[in-house]
Amino acid sequence: MRTIEHWIGGRRSAASSSRTGPVWNPATGEQQAEVLLAEPDDVGTAVSVAREAFESWSQVSLSKRAKILFKFRELVDARSRELAEIIADEHGKVVSDALGEVQRGQEVIEFACGIPHLLKGEYSDQVSTGVDMFSFREPLGVVAGITPFNFPVMVPMWMHPIAIACGNTFVLKPSERDPSASMLVAELWAEAGLPDGVFNVVHGDKSAVDAVLDHPEISAVSFVGSTPIARYIHQRASANGKRVQALGGAKNHAIVMPDADVDFASDHMVAAAFGSAGERCMAISAAVTVGDAGDGLVDAVTAKAEKVRVGPGRDPASEMGPVITAQARDRIVGLIESGAEQGARLTVDGREYAVDGYDGGFWVGPTVIDRVTPQMDVYQEEIFGPVLSVVRVDSVDDAIALINANPYGNGTAIFTSSGEAARRFQRGVQVGMVGINVPIPVPMAYYSFGGWKESLYGDKHVHGPEGISFYTRAKVVTSRWPHVEQPVGASYHFPTS
Ligand code: NAD
Repeated sequence: MRTIEHWIGGRRSAASSSRTGPVWNPATGEQQAEVLLAEPDDVGTAVSVAREAFESWSQVSLSKRAKILFKFRELVDARSRELAEIIADEHGKVVSDALGEVQRGQEVIEFACGIPHLLKGEYSDQVSTGVDMFSFREPLGVVAGITPFNFPVMVPMWMHPIAIACGNTFVLKPSERDPSASMLVAELWAEAGLPDGVFNVVHGDKSAVDAVLDHPEISAVSFVGSTPIARYIHQRASANGKRVQALGGAKNHAIVMPDADVDFASDHMVAAAFGSAGERCMAISAAVTVGDAGDGLVDAVTAKAEKVRVGPGRDPASEMGPVITAQARDRIVGLIESGAEQGARLTVDGREYAVDGYDGGFWVGPTVIDRVTPQMDVYQEEIFGPVLSVVRVDSVDDAIALINANPYGNGTAIFTSSGEAARRFQRGVQVGMVGINVPIPVPMAYYSFGGWKESLYGDKHVHGPEGISFYTRAKVVTSRWPHVEQPVGASYHFPTS
């Protein structure tokens, strides 16, 4: 059995871990590796190595940092297929989808390559006679990232290229369910010339996470995962005086107006609901049809859902892979069951899905549930599986009110040919990322990604300008170089210009 170790100080390390966790192949249902689960001492070792590396890394010039980032970007590009295959093997998503994930991560590295520009401060000449004022931003120290299973390359890359570009050193605690991609990323950082100890990977579960949250030498924590854990991370790390951004779960709605092109909307709806088996924080899980848009949309998504080719992620013919674990499958199937019991209508039922030759895989087929009401469990829960619920309402205002009443506020979309409806929606909806005829409105790397309400604890979104701000703190300098021939004497009043 292959053992996946930590990456501390520029090399693989077993540290003091004695516990391990299983890493499954979701397409076969077999265990393919075991991953070390860190003890608090292992986290301590990684942090002390990172703390030492910070002393020199924070002094490295911006142009030298940018050169390493450019090289890292080239290596990620060259090895993107390998990264995608590792993701497909451990997460289960299809390789083409995994390649898209790697590319979106790579775009954050490209953004971070502009660090000399991004860290420029401000300067005001002569704010008072002979006095200048300027600001600049400094790194925080050792910062940590705790990440979910569903994007094992992209989500950590929302964090570490920017944190490191800003002069911090980084400890990543990736998901223990698909840990291998982070090890290749660590190797690529080393090959790019990043000094040892600047990027570290510690695998583990709650015990490792708690050690991160409590470690006094960690200045900031970025978290992405489910809402209950995001809330917990935010509370515990904040109580320990750390800067925290904790992105949580989601329930993303897409409104379909009667004036929408049904073919276009349904194509995008099935892609957004079933891509990556619905295991995306920006997946559309609730279609909200307005007025008489319902029947046409349900017929179209039903026909398209039935045709989705489900199979192992490595098979180029597959459009959708398995879900991450047997427990995830059972939970999703249970929720579909509850929808049927609570009076919704299953037009496509993925509960008994089987894939030839892969009997042990964690399969759930695409599922469409019509006539869902907001009281049902399928609506209330973040299902995180290939399930599209259809809720029918009478007006765009009712649709917006439904979305605003939902505790989550990550992403949302509207399908319409009415500029007026789209504008009312973009202004009225209480959600962080909004799409207009775009189902998965993930901001580009030079904007910031984040939701509202229970989809985010903390006040900074990730990457883009808010990422730079999160990983640095500002200093403002007031400076005077007096002319020796102009003595001013002591002045006891409050300084003004
Ligand atoms: P998760 O919350 O179970 O795990 C996330 C991380 O927290 C992992 O590293 C895990 O080891 C750790 N963790 C789990 N339980 C813990 C506990 N009790 N104490 C301390 N740490 C713990 O999430 P997941 O199942 O890996 O990922 C899916 C979730 O992530 C979904 O809810 C999804 O919406 C969310 N997500 C959100 C975004 C976003 O941008 N808002 C992006 C991707 C995923």
